[in-house]
Amino acid sequence: MKQDAQPGARTQESQRNGEADPVSPGAVGAPGIPDRSRGEKIDTIAHHFGKIMQALGMDLSDTSLADTPMRVARMYVNETFRGLSAKNFPRISFFEKAPGTPEMIVVNDITLYSYCEHHFVPFFGKVHVAYIPGDRLLGLSKVNRVVDYLSRKPHLQERLTREIADTLSELLQTRHVAVFVEAQHLCVASRGVRDAKSITRTGCYLGQFQNTHTRAEFMASLKMQGSL
Ligand SMILES: [Zn+2]
Repeated sequence: MKQDAQPGARTQESQRNGEADPVSPGAVGAPGIPDRSRGEKIDTIAHHFGKIMQALGMDLSDTSLADTPMRVARMYVNETFRGLSAKNFPRISFFEKAPGTPEMIVVNDITLYSYCEHHFVPFFGKVHVAYIPGDRLLGLSKVNRVVDYLSRKPHLQERLTREIADTLSELLQTRHVAVFVEAQHLCVASRGVRDAKSITRTGCYLGQFQNTHTRAEFMASLKMQGSL
């Protein structure tokens, strides 16, 4: 897998213009539309972001602002919204289930950073995942990487929760996956009702996690973390 272009590497990015990204199946509004190259995206976003700043009355000749459009464009493509490109999907390694493997595997407190697709401001918090393995296991850090990839795009928390569960279910080849997400939304905290403390919690429970007892075991791990 190729490394992301480093900050300040505009020339390198422009040289990538010939490399079209594959169509990203999870991309918002992207089905059937070929992805643009990374350099093309950055140049286009920088151009239009500069126009937004000017429309707001900002002076792009100010030395502090002059590089902001390109800085924002690189951040969007290489970091904040990297989950829109299928080629950024993490490399996944599996382990075979060995004798003595616990029945349920729980990963708590995975850091979440995503963007509200309605307001284009961040929402962030924690993701908790549990699964009952079939024949294969994921390396623990791979769960975090899958969550990070899926959240790095404009999203709704409800859909993100489901998407994490479905993706892990497919990768792990087990129906028994639970995902619980708790997040603060800056569109709620810093504008609108300005409720700085409210937390949105969403859960998705597949397979045996629809069983009250199994789900309770997972939810108990959240209580131990002080999340609930
Ligand atoms: Zn919002």
